[in-house]
Order: sequence, then C-alpha cells, then structure tokens
Amino acid sequence: MSSIEQTWQTLAALPIAIIMFDQQHNRFYFNLPAQSLFSIEEQLSSDELNLTHLALNNALSSESLGITELLPSSYNTHPLFVTLTNRHTHSAKLLDLKFATLCDYLYITVCEPRTLPSQAQSQDFDELISQISTELIDIQNENMSQQIEKALQTIGLNCHADRTYIFEFSDDGLSMSNTYEWVNDGITPFKEHLQNIPKDSLPYFFQQMHTQHIFNASNTAELPPEASAEKIEFTNEGIQSVLCIGLVVEKTLFGFIGCDCVNKARQWSQTDLLRIKLVGDMITNALKNMQYKHKLEKIQKLLLTANKELHEQAYRDSLTEIANRRQLDSTLQQELKRCARSELSLSLILCDIDSFKLYNDTLGHQQGDQALKLVAKALEENCQRPGDLAARYGGEEFAIILPATNKQEASLFCQKLQLAIKQLAIEHPNSKVSPLLTLSFGIYSCQPNEHSEADHTLIMADKALYRAKQNGRNRIEKIAE
Ligand code: GH3
Ligand code: MG
Ligand code: MG
Repeated sequence: MSSIEQTWQTLAALPIAIIMFDQQHNRFYFNLPAQSLFSIEEQLSSDELNLTHLALNNALSSESLGITELLPSSYNTHPLFVTLTNRHTHSAKLLDLKFATLCDYLYITVCEPRTLPSQAQSQDFDELISQISTELIDIQNENMSQQIEKALQTIGLNCHADRTYIFEFSDDGLSMSNTYEWVNDGITPFKEHLQNIPKDSLPYFFQQMHTQHIFNASNTAELPPEASAEKIEFTNEGIQSVLCIGLVVEKTLFGFIGCDCVNKARQWSQTDLLRIKLVGDMITNALKNMQYKHKLEKIQKLLLTANKELHEQAYRDSLTEIANRRQLDSTLQQELKRCARSELSLSLILCDIDSFKLYNDTLGHQQGDQALKLVAKALEENCQRPGDLAARYGGEEFAIILPATNKQEASLFCQKLQLAIKQLAIEHPNSKVSPLLTLSFGIYSCQPNEHSEADHTLIMADKALYRAKQNGRNRIEKIAE
C-alpha cells in the first residue's frame, strides 16, 4: 500500500467530511461523510470531478463562490464559512471549511457542518411563512391561486418534495378535486387529471384521512395489502413517498394539503409535518375567507335584487307595468323643484280614454285590460327625454310629466301621442266619438317656482282634461299660467 493510500485510510475513517487532493496523480479522494455531503464518488481524477449540481456561497457575505473553493489545493489556505446548496435536492447546508497541506503534493479540506444551519434554515422558513401568511390574509380573488401556489412552492422546496397540492372535497362529500398544485422542475403536473375523483376509489386513504386527518407513507411500496387501490394510483403517478394532512374548518374536514416525492423516497420529519400543517392552516383560512366573501357578495346581490323588486312593486303599476301614481307624485315634486331652480317651464298632461266604460261593456273587461296595456306602452315609448315620465294615474287615466317643456311643445307632444294611439288602431265599435279608441288630453304648462305644488299642478291639468271631455273628447285642451 502506498503511503498516500495509507494516509487516506486514516483520514477516510474520520467521522467528518474530508476531501484529499493528490497533486502528483491528479486525484481527489472523498471519504464517506464527504461523499454524502457532496453526492460524489470516493476517488475521482480532476477531469472526472463534476460539481455542477452544487452551488457555493460565502455564508457571511452571501457572495457567490467558485465551487473549486471547496477543494483542497495550494491556493486555499484561509478557513471559509460557506453555504453549500444542492441544486437537485434544494437542500442547503452551512459548512466550516478548513484547509491543510499534508506534504508538498497532498492537500486536504476538512468540511465541518455547523449546528447553526437548521436554525438558520428555520429562521428563513419562518420569515417566508410570515410573509406568505400576510399575503394570504390580504388576498384578493384575482391573485388567490398565485399566492396559494407560492405557499405550496415554499413548503415543497423546504420539505424537499417534488409536488405539493391542495385537494378539496365536493359539497356532497363524495368526490375530491385537485384545486391547487406546485411541481418542481422536471416533475409532471397531475392537477388536470385529478378532478372529481370518487372518494370510494381510494378507500384506505380516506379511512386514514377521516379518522386521523393525516396520511403518511414514506415508502408507498410498503403500504399494507388493504391499500392496493392506493398503491396502483401511486405507482401510476410514480410517487415514492406521500404525506397528506387534512384541512379542517369548524371540525369539518373539507380537503387536504399534500406532498409527493417522485425522484426518491423521503422519510417525513416531524418538522416537515409541522410546516405542512402550518401552511395548510394558512391556506384553509384564505380559502374560507374567500368563500365567506363570496357568500357575502351573493347575499348582497340577492338583497339588492330584492330591494329593487320591492321598489318596482311600490312604484310600478302591476297591470300596465309603467310608473304608478306614487311614482308620479314623487317625480312631479322633484321636477317642479328642479325646473324652479333652473328657471325652466314644465308641462303636465292628464289624458283619459274616451268612453272606456262602453268599451268594457262592449268587448269585456279583459279586452279592456289589453287596451289599457297598449295605450300605456304607447305613452311610455313616446317619453324619450331623460326627465319625461308616463304614469298610470288611475283607472283609464294617465299622466305625463314633461320637464323643460312649454305649452306649444306640450301641445305638439300630445298630437304625437294622439297619432300613436290612432296607429294602435284599437277598435271601439259602439263609440260615438270614433270607431277607433281615442283619448282626451288636458295640458297644464307653468313656470314653476319654489312655492309650486304638485297637487295644484294636477288639479289644473285635470281642469284642462275636463274641458277636453266637455268639448267633445278626442281632443287637446291646455291651460297655461
Ligand atoms: P269618458 O269618456 O267620460 O272618460 O267616459 P268613460 O266611460 O271612459 O269614463 P267612466 O269614468 O264613466 O268609466 C271609466 C271606466 O274605466 C270604468 C271602468 O270599468 C274602466 N276601468 C277603470 N280601470 C280599469 C281597468 O283596470 N281595467 C279595465 N278593463 N277597465 C277599467
Ligand atoms: Mg274615460
Ligand atoms: Mg276616467
């Protein structure tokens, strides 16, 4: 045995990670702890040495270092405190590197893992968690998926999982769907294929989930025989380890958060469990808050609709579906005030179907109702300016408010209405006025002031209407102030 090999035998047996470099033969030696630390084989020539899966940073300054800084050489002399990250497993370690020269061609690096790492890592994790939880609390609907997937990514990377996900149960509790998913690089996502999965297709899984709120299988190949359906499912998806933790709201299980390991099996640690549970709880809160928000929005919409319907009922005439007298009274008040302020004139029209009693007597009450509807529709359709309002004033009498309209304009408007009614061509067989249904119109036009009253305006319009009836019906009479 050469003296180099003898030296190495002694070094290799030490329980700490050691790398030795034989410059004479251009050969690196890694003892067992070093092999597992760097995922590398024992002896390698410098040509064979591939460390591309590793990244190295100065732990104090975070500055990125060349990976050769790890290796023993005549250049490395000062101790180094570094973070070593494995790009494949996403694991990071803090190492104290010490370099020594054994003779002029033999160099060694002693790599001592520091106990600080787990603390430092969990500090980072805690910071991430608190950031995620703040983001999940303020969550808006649009970025809900994004935030939940970010939380799944954090837990995935920190627990060295290949896939993390949320499943939610259907309302009837009979099936489940994968609603959120994160996958590591190179891992196949399954979300699209995992929708509406009947629960009874995975009985063992659900029995565990419902009774213990956890399903922990570090090695899916070792599941008991009663988990045959689950084994097939896991094999299909290439899952070696799986950990699922129930999501519970008010003592009800509504889904679960889970992690899969595909590339290699993982023995889930207690810390993994706690972290996954924590993120699961945060996601549960976010999902439930969003659900409450949606419920609230739905109730609000229903209330608004109900309110609108009530308003419609209170201010619409049920037969003709145009405004009723209540709406007319309130609008007339408002428009009188508005026209007074703006110094605009206002016209109010009252119109009444001629000989309508006779119409009913001749053709029946139902036909009378139809005629009322047609007349109302025609009147309303002609009220096209923003402030115009046509209302059923009572029986077969209608009122029309025309703000910013003087008596000449109102008169022209009534002629237009007369024509519109004529064009309806509603036959009125026994009428002495006309063979087609007609209306009499009374217009009152005024220049409203702050003392103008709706009642007075209506009385005046009614007077004009009475005059139209007196003067033979199917005509327009106007009174102006
Ligand atoms: P005038 O030309 O003087 O107005 O004669 P008129 O017959 O139209 O007037 P009158 O006041 O004598 O009769 C009004 C009629 O309108 C009596 C009533 O049956 C009818 N009427 C009132 N409201 C309704 C209704 O909702 N549906 C039906 N079909 N008829 C109605
Ligand atoms: Mg009438
Ligand atoms: Mg009448």
